[in-house]
Amino acid sequence: MPAYAATGIVLRRISLGETDRIITVLTREQGKLHAVAKGARKPGSRSGGATELFTLTRFMLASGKSLEIVSQCEVQESFPALRADLGLLARATYLCELADRLTEDYEPSPDMFDSLVSALYLLRRRADEPDMVLHAFELQLLSERGYAPGLGQCVTCGGEPGAQGLSYSPTLGGVLCGRCRRPMDAIPLSAAALNLMRRMAGADADGIVALQGVAADLQVVGRCMKWTIRYRIDRDIKSAEFLESLRPQGAGPA
Ligand SMILES: [Zn+2]
Repeated sequence: MPAYAATGIVLRRISLGETDRIITVLTREQGKLHAVAKGARKPGSRSGGATELFTLTRFMLASGKSLEIVSQCEVQESFPALRADLGLLARATYLCELADRLTEDYEPSPDMFDSLVSALYLLRRRADEPDMVLHAFELQLLSERGYAPGLGQCVTCGGEPGAQGLSYSPTLGGVLCGRCRRPMDAIPLSAAALNLMRRMAGADADGIVALQGVAADLQVVGRCMKWTIRYRIDRDIKSAEFLESLRPQGAGPA
């Protein structure tokens, strides 16, 4: 294939040899791909900044034997505000790892790409409550992969969940009414937390910026997302642990 252009977010990077870097990029056009950026670790290299984690970059790529080769690159957005704040940096890193885990190589998914880019911009706008963005993105990403949690009716009996005795089951993939509550893996859920999750699942960018909720409900939503993601991808997300260590003691989702 001749050289081609692609716009992408850098999800992962590793060093190669003395000065090169291998990057994993979620591109809008080609899906997720892996590329060698030669000389990216040389001091002053133009491709250095363009191959930083969660940078939005316009690439010119050529197909190599096993990896793509970066022939040119231009940073479109480096999200400096996210790099200047440890909490936002940890969340942006986590979002990239989550997107990486939930995508296959060379499966274009423009919706997933757009959601990730949007989430990175929104993190900056919701620096007051970045977990609103984080959990909304988790819900939307799960939904794009066909794992949308059932939040409308009870996932066991199909009835109206009501407001009393609600819970959420990560393995059954949604909300349970008071009669169907399972003691084993059910996470108790208030009606307000369920309502917050429903609003997150359907919110566009402005809707996410406007989301309001109390911290306790947001934490419960975080717990539901954490266990749903664990169940769906069957492994831990490394950066999630670091992110949790930054949350106030006792407030983080268990
Ligand atoms: Zn039920």
